[in-house]
Amino acid sequence: MKAILQTILIIILLYSIYRFHKNKEAKMCIHDIDKLEEPFRDKIKTLMENVNSRLKALADDNPNYIDIYAAVFETLRTKERQKQLFLQRRTKTLNSKHLVGKAADIVVQKNGQWTWDIRDKYVKSAYFIIGEEAKKLGLTWGGDWKSFRDYPHVETE
Ligand SMILES: [Zn+2]
Repeated sequence: MKAILQTILIIILLYSIYRFHKNKEAKMCIHDIDKLEEPFRDKIKTLMENVNSRLKALADDNPNYIDIYAAVFETLRTKERQKQLFLQRRTKTLNSKHLVGKAADIVVQKNGQWTWDIRDKYVKSAYFIIGEEAKKLGLTWGGDWKSFRDYPHVETE
């Protein structure tokens, strides 16, 4: 009995640490759309409306659909943060469009949590909706990149 309780406590502790780091990561980012360059900024606003109205339509048509929507996770990036992501192998470049306000990461939220897990069919379909809608606006979608598929990433020339 004691062992079970200890195991549960350790799991709760590990989960809290995990959540703390996820939140810290989210706080380190600049989410502000207004930091983007025009006309990209306007396109991102349109993109968010289009993506979320499609996700809402899916939910309205299917009562079993889950609570899922897209939000802007990161826009402008400092050189320091880019370097940190590079060292963590989470980006392939030190010369990202994020540094000049011409890229944004649109991340899916499932049941109120940020998620990058494309093994989940709902999450994956939401990322593909982001990609489709981004391309309709003439933007480049990171999900199309062959060497490093970056599903949340959209950018402009
Ligand atoms: Zn990005």
